[in-house]
Amino acid sequence: RPDLPPHAAVQDEDAGAPKERRIAIACKDVSHAFGSQSVLHHVDLDIGQGETFGLIGESGSGKSTLARIVTGLQTPDAGSVELFGRTVAPRVEKRNLAERRDVQMVFQSPDRTLNPRQRIGKILGRPLRRLAGLRRSEVRARVSDLLASVRLAGITAEQKSRSLSGGQRQRAAIARAFAGVPKVVVLDEPTSALDVSVQATVLNLLNDLQRDKDTTYLFISHDLRVVRYMADRIGVLYRGHLVETGSSDQIFQGPNHPYTELLLAASS
Ligand code: ADP
Ligand code: MG
Repeated sequence: RPDLPPHAAVQDEDAGAPKERRIAIACKDVSHAFGSQSVLHHVDLDIGQGETFGLIGESGSGKSTLARIVTGLQTPDAGSVELFGRTVAPRVEKRNLAERRDVQMVFQSPDRTLNPRQRIGKILGRPLRRLAGLRRSEVRARVSDLLASVRLAGITAEQKSRSLSGGQRQRAAIARAFAGVPKVVVLDEPTSALDVSVQATVLNLLNDLQRDKDTTYLFISHDLRVVRYMADRIGVLYRGHLVETGSSDQIFQGPNHPYTELLLAASS
C-alpha cells in the first residue's frame, strides 16, 4: 500500500475521529497442551473487523492449534475466544446457527472438507440451505453465482469434486466456506499445497472476496512472502508464545523480537 501524501493525512484529521475499530476475534489468555506437551502459552490477541491478520511461525509452533481453537474445532485447556464480543461455545455442535455461520475455516488440503465423490452442487448446496437459509428452488442459481465468484464458472453442479484439479478443488472449498457469508474466515496454509502458478490466483481471489464485505481473515502461513502479500498485521508464534505483533511493515522492516529477526533471516 503506498504511503499517503502529507495533505491526505490533514484531510483525514479534518474528517474527525477515525471510525471505531470493532474487535472481530479476541483470544484471551489461551493456553493448550496435548498430553504433557504444552503447545500454546497464554496467547492474547485482538483482530479488528475487516483486517487480515497473518500468523507466522515455524512448523510445530502452534499455528494450526490456535486456528482450530478460534473456529471451535478444539477446546482450549484455559482461556477463551470471543467473536465480536461474544464468547464462543467451545464445541461447534453446541453453537447456534449464527455462530456456526459466522466463522468458517479453509484448510491446506481441500479434501478436508470436500468429499471427492460428492457433486459440487451438493457440496455448495448444503451450506446454502443450512447456513444461508436458502430454499431448494433458490439453491441452483446461487451455486452458479458462488462458482463464478471463485472463478469456477466452467464447472457444473453435476461434476464430482474429484474431477477438479487441486487448485479448482481449493477454490471450491473456498466457495463452500463463503456460502453462508461468514464474518470471520480462518485460512490455515490455504495455498501451501498448490502449484506456485496457482497460488497467486487463489490469494487474489481471497482479496477480492474480502473487499467491501468487512470479512475478517486469520491468515496462517509459514511462507513469509505470502503473509507479507496478504496481511495488514502480523503475529509471530514461537513455541506457543506470541512473541510479537505489529503492522506488516513493522514486522518486516523493524522486528522487535530476536526470534522474528531469525525467522526473517532464514527465509531471505
Ligand atoms: P503448526 O501448525 O504451527 O505447525 P500445530 O498447531 O499443528 O503447529 O502443532 C503444534 C504442536 O502440537 C506440534 O508439536 C504438534 O505435534 C502437536 N499437536 C498438534 N495437534 C496434536 C494432536 N491432535 N495431538 C497431539 N499433538 C498435537
Ligand atoms: Mg499447521
